Amino acid sequence: MNASRPLRTAGDLIEAGLLPPERLDEIEQVAERYAVAISPAMAALIDRDDPADPIARQFVPDGAELHILPEEREDPIGDLAHSPVEGIVHRYPDRVLLKAVHVCPVYCRFCFRREMVGPQGLGTLSPDAMDRAFAYIASRPEIWEVILTGGDPLVLSPRRLAEIMERLAAIDHVKIVRFHTRVPVVEPERIDEALIAALKASGKTTYVALHANHPHELTSEARAACARLVDAGSAMISQSVLLRGVNDDPDILAALMRAFVETRIKPYYLHHPDLAPGTGHFRLSIEEGQKLVAGLRGRVSGLCQPAYILDIPGGHGKAVIGASTIRPTGDGCYRVSDFRGGEHSYPPEA
Ligand code: SF4
Repeated sequence: MNASRPLRTAGDLIEAGLLPPERLDEIEQVAERYAVAISPAMAALIDRDDPADPIARQFVPDGAELHILPEEREDPIGDLAHSPVEGIVHRYPDRVLLKAVHVCPVYCRFCFRREMVGPQGLGTLSPDAMDRAFAYIASRPEIWEVILTGGDPLVLSPRRLAEIMERLAAIDHVKIVRFHTRVPVVEPERIDEALIAALKASGKTTYVALHANHPHELTSEARAACARLVDAGSAMISQSVLLRGVNDDPDILAALMRAFVETRIKPYYLHHPDLAPGTGHFRLSIEEGQKLVAGLRGRVSGLCQPAYILDIPGGHGKAVIGASTIRPTGDGCYRVSDFRGGEHSYPPEA
C-alpha cells in the first residue's frame, strides 16, 4: 500500500490492514452512501492491534452508518434554511459561513454535513457563485466575521486562499476571518509558508479553529504545524465533538484540552453530536455529556474549559448546555456547586 496517498475505498482499507477482508461488502455499501478518506498521517496513527482505536473509530467506516434513526436529519443544523445565496449561511446577525468547498482531506464518520461533503456533495463554488457570495457579504455592513468552512477550506491552494483573503480585505466591515479546519492535524505538511502567507490580509484578524477529538491527534507534526500558524500571527481556537468510543472519558477530554492549550490553542467548543444520518452509535445523552463536562471542570485549569454546545436542530443556532452549577432557591438566594460536587449558599448564610 502506498502510504503517501489517502485511503478512499473499502479495498484500500483492507489492503492497509484497517479492516478484515470479510467486511468488504458491508463497507462498500457504506462507501457508496458516504464519502471515505483517511489521510496518510491518520492511517499511520491507527493502532491495528487495538479494536477500539479512537482514530480508527473516527475515520474507518462501519456498517452501523447504514442504520438511520427517525430523529436523524440530512441537514441537522439547518444550513439550508439560512442560506440566502449559494455558499453563504447567515444564521446570526454579525457573521456568515462561507462554504467555498465541500471537500475534506479526511471524512469523519460522524460528520454533521455528511450529506453535503465528498465527491457526491455540493462541490466547489463556481466563480459566479463566489461573486454572488462576496457581493452578499459586501452588501451587509453588519457582517463582522466571515467563517470559511465547508468542507475544509485549507484544501484550497494557497493561490485560491489568497484570492479569497484579498476579496475579504476589500470589504471594510469584515474584521475577522475564521477558518474551520482539520488540516493541521490530518495533513500537517500542507501548512507551509505559502499557505500561511495566504491566510493573511491587511486589516483583518485571522483565526484558525482546529477540529480534533482525541489527544493522539496532536502529534509532534500537528503541534509543529499549529506553531507555524500561531508564530505567523493566526490566533487558534479548538472545536471538538463529544463522541462515544472516542473521547467520552473525562481523563481523555482533559488530556485533549491540555494538548490544545500546550499548543497555544484556546479550547472553544465541545459539540454535542448532531443528529446526522447513521451516527447514532456516536451519540451520548445530554446528561452523560454534562457529567463529562463537570468532570473536566474538576480536573483541569480554566484555560482548558471549552463551552459545551448543542446546535439546536432546524437551524435555531447554538445553546450552551454545560452542567448547571447554580440553582435558585426561591428566596432570592442560590445554591452553587463547587468543582468537587460540594454545595454552598449564595450569598453565604450569615
Ligand atoms: S472535516 Fe468537518 S466537514 Fe469534513 S468530514 Fe470531518 S466533520 Fe465533516
